[in-house]
Amino acid sequence: LGGSLKKSIRNIVGKGRISEKDVKELNKEIQRALLKSDVDVRMVKALTDRIKKRALDEKPPKGASAREHIINIVYDELVNIVGKGTEIPVEEQDIMLVGLQGSGKTTTAAKLAYYFKNKGLKTGVICADTHRPGAYSQLKKLCGEVNCLFYGEQESEDAVSVVKNGLKELNKTEVRIVDTAGRHSLESDLITEMEEIEETVGADRTYLVIDASIGKGVKKQANAFNDAIGIDGVIITKLDGTAKGGGALTAVSETDTKIAFIGSGEKYEEFEEFDPDSFISRLLGMGDIQKLMHRAEERLDPEDMDMESMMKGDLTLKDVYQQLESITKLGPLKQIMSMLPTGPQKLPDDALDITKEKMEKFRIIMDSMTDEELEKPQVIGSSRVKRIARGSGTSREEVNELLKYHKMMKKLMKNMRGKRLPMNKMMKK
Ligand code: GDP
Ligand code: MG
Repeated sequence: LGGSLKKSIRNIVGKGRISEKDVKELNKEIQRALLKSDVDVRMVKALTDRIKKRALDEKPPKGASAREHIINIVYDELVNIVGKGTEIPVEEQDIMLVGLQGSGKTTTAAKLAYYFKNKGLKTGVICADTHRPGAYSQLKKLCGEVNCLFYGEQESEDAVSVVKNGLKELNKTEVRIVDTAGRHSLESDLITEMEEIEETVGADRTYLVIDASIGKGVKKQANAFNDAIGIDGVIITKLDGTAKGGGALTAVSETDTKIAFIGSGEKYEEFEEFDPDSFISRLLGMGDIQKLMHRAEERLDPEDMDMESMMKGDLTLKDVYQQLESITKLGPLKQIMSMLPTGPQKLPDDALDITKEKMEKFRIIMDSMTDEELEKPQVIGSSRVKRIARGSGTSREEVNELLKYHKMMKKLMKNMRGKRLPMNKMMKK
């Protein structure tokens, strides 16, 4: 899946402008990936509409390729939804955790305690879950492991009073975390209790804790909690599982908040501040978008060259273009060639002189080619050369020159076959 998204990104190369067909194809892959990650259908539709509009309307910034441009747009639009990471203030504060039963509140309470304790703040946790029999001992045990203060009343049935007593008892701590009872659904008496706790705590931050696998119910849930007590941020748990947490996008958009933390395991240290890059990569089912962006910035992408298929001899013109583009970043072609284990190739001198203008010409020429011609340049005979030259407003010599590079590289690849080439290292020099 991620592979096909990556592939459709890879396909957008050697073009000054992205065609509608490219965007459609890419958007289809993005939609597929996001829906699989439980992102809301309408949200996905709105997102890809914006991507399409921007990809077709906006010209790539000077010096950026079409591919870099589209990756930036996709990333940009997704960050617009998930938000950049929130700044988590390291200061005295009262935190309240709410959410459905089993979402991970109690685990998260201990994780937060560990987090703030590590920041050097004196931290305590209050157990305001007087409904579930095991709640008290579960939290007490976790707090023991984290080694933070704990307050709870095993026999009490009055959560509000427990919270009052707990705040008094823990008044020497700097961060107080209140773990509340899980709501099965949104029964009104529990909502009322939650409102009373919130009033008692006067929480600086109330986090809605949601399980990464949450589906369509998230909208109603987020709104109910937000209407009752006001949500300041979202914590996603269980991101270590198969679920990708796309429901969190709905939660933050409905409550107009951000994702603050993510939980990725049962242990208290399996908890991190939200990082948009890795979350977005995950949603898209793609490797590491940051790396991809970074590479796009460097405009040097040896991995994307797919050496294996090139070695096998299916060298397309897009590959050639990409290679030329990479190589021109590295300095004179002659020098590069002499670094190859096959030794310098026999090349006409002018062939070694690839300028920016020439690359631009190649790009224009490739835009006048059919898909078949781009994939299999060997089908291009002299009549097609004529047509392409006319269509692109270039000369036959120029078209032939591009084809010459194709032949040359193909030969080069053949020569290199079987020889282990430190290609990545070489390209990065
Ligand atoms: P609560 O009812 O909202 O308080 O949820 P709990 O904190 O009791 O968690 C419910 C279950 O989910 C427990 O078995 C936890 O160990 C587990 N859990 C919580 N957070 C995570 C997480 O990030 N990853 C995994 N794998 N399990 C988690
Ligand atoms: Mg609990």
